[in-house]
Amino acid sequence: MAATPGSPARRPRPAAAKRRSVWTAVLVAAASIATATVAVSAAAADAEKPPVGTVIGIDLGTTYSCVGVMRNGHVEIIANDQGNRITPSYVAFTPEERLIGDAAKNQAAMNPSNTVFDVKRLIGRKFSDPTVQRDKKLLPFSVVNKDGKPMVEVSVNNAKKVMSPEEVSAMVLTKMKKTAEEYLGKEVTNAVVTVPAYFTDAQRQATKDAGQIAGLNVMRIINEPTAAAIAYGLNKKGEKNILVFDLGGGTFDVSLLTIEDDVFEVLATNGDTHLGGEDFDQRVMDYFIKLFKRKYNKDMSADKRSVGKLRREVEKAKRALSSQTQVRVEIESLFDGQDLSETLTRARFEELNSDLFRKTLKPVEKVLKDAGMSKAKVDEIVMVGGSSRIPKVQELLRGYFDGKELNKGVNPDEAVAFGAAVQGGILSNEGGSAGVVLLDVAPLSLGIETVGGVMSKIIERNTVIPTRKTQTFTTYQDKQTTVSIQVYEGERAMTKDNRQLGKFDLNGIPAAARGTPQIEVTFEVDANGILAVSAEDKASSAKEAITITNDKGRLSKEEIERMVKEAEEFADADAEVKRKVEGKNSLETAIFSAKAAVEEGGSLVDKASEEDKESLKAAVKEAQEWLDESGEDATADDLEAKLKDLQEIVQPIMAKGGAAGGGSGAAQGGEEDDTKEEL
Ligand code: AMP
Repeated sequence: MAATPGSPARRPRPAAAKRRSVWTAVLVAAASIATATVAVSAAAADAEKPPVGTVIGIDLGTTYSCVGVMRNGHVEIIANDQGNRITPSYVAFTPEERLIGDAAKNQAAMNPSNTVFDVKRLIGRKFSDPTVQRDKKLLPFSVVNKDGKPMVEVSVNNAKKVMSPEEVSAMVLTKMKKTAEEYLGKEVTNAVVTVPAYFTDAQRQATKDAGQIAGLNVMRIINEPTAAAIAYGLNKKGEKNILVFDLGGGTFDVSLLTIEDDVFEVLATNGDTHLGGEDFDQRVMDYFIKLFKRKYNKDMSADKRSVGKLRREVEKAKRALSSQTQVRVEIESLFDGQDLSETLTRARFEELNSDLFRKTLKPVEKVLKDAGMSKAKVDEIVMVGGSSRIPKVQELLRGYFDGKELNKGVNPDEAVAFGAAVQGGILSNEGGSAGVVLLDVAPLSLGIETVGGVMSKIIERNTVIPTRKTQTFTTYQDKQTTVSIQVYEGERAMTKDNRQLGKFDLNGIPAAARGTPQIEVTFEVDANGILAVSAEDKASSAKEAITITNDKGRLSKEEIERMVKEAEEFADADAEVKRKVEGKNSLETAIFSAKAAVEEGGSLVDKASEEDKESLKAAVKEAQEWLDESGEDATADDLEAKLKDLQEIVQPIMAKGGAAGGGSGAAQGGEEDDTKEEL
């Protein structure tokens, strides 16, 4: 039944251009598409919207993530438990616990092979992908091949643990979800999550899967540059052409948008999925590693710990060079007992990265060319992403636009999450702003291969989505009963130069003279940029079941379910760790306050009998000894039981003295104090 691969005779050729709006679903199978975004006024979007509750906006970045929420017409960027408004997209495993965010990044240098970051570079990709192969070499943790997918391997309690990038991203998303929940004081399940404009369908899907594993309903995946444009465009009126220049830690996106009143339209997008702050760090690292070798004849390049340490300090130095012209880099005992103590000037930093900085102008040129716009027509240049703070990058861009001032009004680290939060607010109906609802456009044309390997476009690039287009094709040979539908994206005339997204066969076409059958091929792209392709032979009554080989490296349903379960288990383990810490704190607090009560100046000194004081002291001593000896290995239950034992002796005595119960909660436990104090 299957078509002979590569046989041109089996491929359909275009029939006389005939587009139909009526569409019969024969097949719905996901293929791949990257999207850019436009927004339309809310009135133009679906009217019926059941209440969905709060929808947070998450910028799931390569290096940092950020979460925001829209309330009463305002966006609030939410600080995490460390008080930071951006959270490192890092997850680390120690023998005791799993760390996410700042805590994970802070110990990265000490624990390089079990600290996972940059998984956004791996998500939705195949192991064989050249970028995965290249990144693998730079990452201090193991990336292994499992069924053709790159997986992260860490060692937890002497056991190897292999995780998909989706699972790791889910851990970061869980952290962002929790950050929002703690701030809002309620559970949050809906989110808008942003991705780079050039993410393929597989990468978008994988990001959605990560959301699902984290217990989030990802209502929309939107492009980072568009979210940033929303952040800027919110209060602006009048028609403007805006160039969004987003240089983050790992990715670079340039988008050209027009904004007219409340309507955004993406005219063109371009970028480099592999250019950002980390590359600048790498250049400086290479420089120092070489210098270290030359000066001390010591090669640290294979020592993960030293390299990790250096990476941290180099990034700090780089940040400093955005506001000062030189910086000292001092690392004690960097490698083999040798310190590093050097001055890095801004000039040297710029020289080390000059080709990379210049490289940022190419995508700018490309979007203008694609949109047929002269640079004089650009009204605003919006700077987004932490690396857009680099003075040289700004200078080059300003120079390219003949001295035009750059727009730096929105915090570059937060602009994307800001826009995502705006979108979330609108989707939830809670944002307090009528605003705009985003739709996407396909930044690459989508089509199928026709005879001779020709790319026959069905959806032209930059078509607003959701969209559905049907085109009729026919057979190339007499009595041809099968056609092979091969789906591609790209702008080139021949499919061999474009990217294949998937393929399937349509069988059971009644034998007829060549050119007679009418095969309707329908492309439908939904609001998330997911492409469904169907093919139907108009003459045949029997419908073929058609499938697209899913070789996108997506997770299976079972795998996702397993990971959701595992995430829940981790949540339990995390809660247990938290309980244990709190239990220990509570016990220590009880011990200390009881001890203080009978010490000089304490509340019981004159009030309790000698006998009571002695029994209290004995109980405190016993508890303290137990804690010193077994506290580390004790479970939360053990600790709580011990606290109860102590309180049974101490509380009646304390009550006589009119003192508080001697069992107040963890000193720094924040909201936990309230519940524990009532004991
Ligand atoms: P983002 O992914 O947009 O949060 O960007 C993070 C990247 O921006 C990281 O590579 C940071 O090192 C870099 N970055 C943050 N602040 C600065 C700064 N002041 N100067 C240069 N790079 C910075």
